Amino acid sequence: MNDPGRVVILGAGPTGLGAAVRLHELGHDRWQVIEQEDRPGGLARSYVDDAGFTWDCGGHVQFSHYAYYDALCDRAVGDAWLDHERESWIWIKGRFVPYPFQNNIQRLDPADRDRALADVVRAAACRERRPANFAEWIVATFGDALAELFFFPYNRKVWGYPLERLGISWMGERVAVPDVERLRRNVRTGEDDLSWGPNNMFRFPLHGGTGAIWKGVAAALPAEKIRFGAEVTAVRLAERIVELRDGRRVPYDALVSSLPLDVLCTMATDLPAALRQAAGRLVYSAVHVLGVGLRGPKPDTLARKCWMYFPEAHSPYYRVTVFSNYSPHNVPPDDACWSLMAEVSETPEKAVRVETLRRDVLAAMRADGLLGGAEVVSFWHRREAHGYPTPFLGRDETLACLLPGLEAHRVFSRGRFGAWKYEVSNQDHSCMQGVELVDRLLDAGDGDEPTLNRPDRVNAGAFAATARR
Ligand SMILES: Cc1cc2nc3c(=O)[nH]c(=O)nc-3n(C[C@H](O)[C@H](O)[C@H](O)COP(=O)(O)OP(=O)(O)OC[C@H]3O[C@@H](n4cnc5c(N)ncnc54)[C@H](O)[C@@H]3O)c2cc1C
Repeated sequence: MNDPGRVVILGAGPTGLGAAVRLHELGHDRWQVIEQEDRPGGLARSYVDDAGFTWDCGGHVQFSHYAYYDALCDRAVGDAWLDHERESWIWIKGRFVPYPFQNNIQRLDPADRDRALADVVRAAACRERRPANFAEWIVATFGDALAELFFFPYNRKVWGYPLERLGISWMGERVAVPDVERLRRNVRTGEDDLSWGPNNMFRFPLHGGTGAIWKGVAAALPAEKIRFGAEVTAVRLAERIVELRDGRRVPYDALVSSLPLDVLCTMATDLPAALRQAAGRLVYSAVHVLGVGLRGPKPDTLARKCWMYFPEAHSPYYRVTVFSNYSPHNVPPDDACWSLMAEVSETPEKAVRVETLRRDVLAAMRADGLLGGAEVVSFWHRREAHGYPTPFLGRDETLACLLPGLEAHRVFSRGRFGAWKYEVSNQDHSCMQGVELVDRLLDAGDGDEPTLNRPDRVNAGAFAATARR
């Protein structure tokens, strides 16, 4: 095995902890994690508010593509899991349509339904030209009617940028391309084409929200090797030193960073100008998470729902999760309590009025029939400045300059915002980016970092059963 020397890991989110777990497992002792917050988990951490409601930073569920990751989660949480069917819906024109929207147009009113089907058929018949951007891809794939009804408004809301600025290389498994025959059958029979079922289960920790997983992962590592409350303020590339807010200097031979790539480049000294310019091209959005703690009758329509998408302009949120459906312990010990968690995106092109956000969210929830007869007993708000790594046009070229450029200085940037690849930015992907990087540094595994380099194959399940030595 190679000896990479002193490995310093920035961030105790899934990526940083994945790297730490793998170093520990392989017996490489010279590593430490530096984390600015007081707890592990990064964007996948959880909080308990003053009224006793538990909140994630947005609705988190486990979509694992790796046996190694599942085993890690099992060790962290034990058998305290709850299994759920992934029930997701779209709220549009005053009705719920099951996800995926494009397969369930039979739920639309007849005029929308017939126009949508005709446009899908037309789009399928003329797919010669490769779309130049995400907006064109939507129209070429789903046709004009579905684009106007759902895909344009929803995606503008969630990404917060004109869809012409987004590329298409990131999609892979994320969007189900319509099968015209299946759609015709659904329209004919009027039956729902549900995406949930035996292969669409997810699990959630019984206690402590998603953050319980990362607490458990961190707890299994030597405590003295993870420094919480330690903020990195500079990375001196030439000297290979990390500087902390409290003045401490930490030398490294290899730096594994899960910090947002733009932030890392801003704090890196001696960074070549070309890399600094490339970092300036990175595009991202912030996310506001609004937790609404409720007491009293819950609408029957929410009894089994996991999350709902909201494409329409009257609501600030693009998604609402019925978070109390994930675990009864996400609410205080009171049978009448339940909870909703909304997400609102923010970008320089989609401003959010923070002063009125609470009022706007609650008013929209009322208008959308989500609050039933319940009383709001708690309101929790958190803004994550880096919420979504936008798959902007030119992203792949920008990353092809930045990541190898940093590696030339022994800096390995990985994870949701470290590698900036939305298609491999969930917890399992991020964690495995850390694991696979360590395998490469120690020459212990395949060494070619499939999650970072071959997202489509990973998402198609090609590495699901890969064992590690
Ligand atoms: C709204 C939303 C919904 C999501 N839903 C899901 C889901 O359903 N399923 C799923 O699997 N994933 C989901 N994710 C993604 C999941 O949160 C990420 O995959 C994961 O947290 C990324 O891990 P990471 O370690 O790469 O980065 P992060 O989690 O961002 O961790 C980076 C760490 O670096 C630390 N840090 C930053 N700057 C400094 C500094 N200067 N000094 C020291 N430390 C620093 C941060 O505090 C943080 O702990 C969701 C994310 C969001 C925002």
